[in-house]
Amino acid sequence: MLIGAHVSTAGGLTKAVERGTELGCDAIQIFNQSPRMWRPTAYTDGDFAEFRDAIGGSALAAVTIHAVYLINGASREREIRAKSIASLTHALRVGDGIGAEGVVLHAGARKGEPLAASMKRAAKAIAAALAESEVCAVLLENTAGTQGPLGRDFDELARLLELLDRDRRVGICLDSCHLLASGYEIRTPEALDLVLAEFDAKVGLERLRCLHLNDSQIPLGGNRDRHANLGAGEIGERGLAVFLSEPRFEELPVLIETGGEDGAPVAEDIEHARRLREQGLAARRKTP
Ligand SMILES: [Zn+2]
Ligand SMILES: [Zn+2]
Repeated sequence: MLIGAHVSTAGGLTKAVERGTELGCDAIQIFNQSPRMWRPTAYTDGDFAEFRDAIGGSALAAVTIHAVYLINGASREREIRAKSIASLTHALRVGDGIGAEGVVLHAGARKGEPLAASMKRAAKAIAAALAESEVCAVLLENTAGTQGPLGRDFDELARLLELLDRDRRVGICLDSCHLLASGYEIRTPEALDLVLAEFDAKVGLERLRCLHLNDSQIPLGGNRDRHANLGAGEIGERGLAVFLSEPRFEELPVLIETGGEDGAPVAEDIEHARRLREQGLAARRKTP
């Protein structure tokens, strides 16, 4: 398991490698630009080469990119859709440039529009961005919330995959906080096992490429997206220990997005996750 965190790229892409290394990460996630603005950060091939050198010489084994929050290919507004495609394309090209595992994406939001048509628009936008980039994967993240975010459950993720013709460049990122908030009980090995069986049946475990590790301020099925620091939410230390010791997650990057005192993960959060994983593994050994 590659335990890591979301880190800032302030000062340049290679700064993210330095920050991840300082935190003791095995993997990092970055934004390819400011996540609340459309304006892309212009990177050169030199920036990409420098990043690849830096990460190649570091202990970090993987990097993912989180796409801009504004992206909504499901929107009925043509301008928003065009901006969304351009922004996702840019993120995928950065991913191609730096050798990222994928671009994590919230597929879109209905905002009151009918589900089926929204899904079709979102998939079309994602397909357009894939066509304009080389190899970097899109990792659809499971979501939670009240604005009609697409991908709230495995049926919706499966449907999106289908609309994308099961393109090999489309994978999934599961966020522990969003799972719980969307009604998936993941806090015991038995419950998580059932959830993963459902995921495998509907989506396919081979599509799972990355995990987000966040605790949740919102209880099971509360359907809002409010992260909590590890152990300080509804999943709790025991639940997180279960998640972190899941055998089928063994090969994946597991990225902490919320931590520290001001929201950004710190070294203690990484250490905390490693301890919880050890506790989870020990508990599973005791009750085979
Ligand atoms: Zn997430
Ligand atoms: Zn979230």
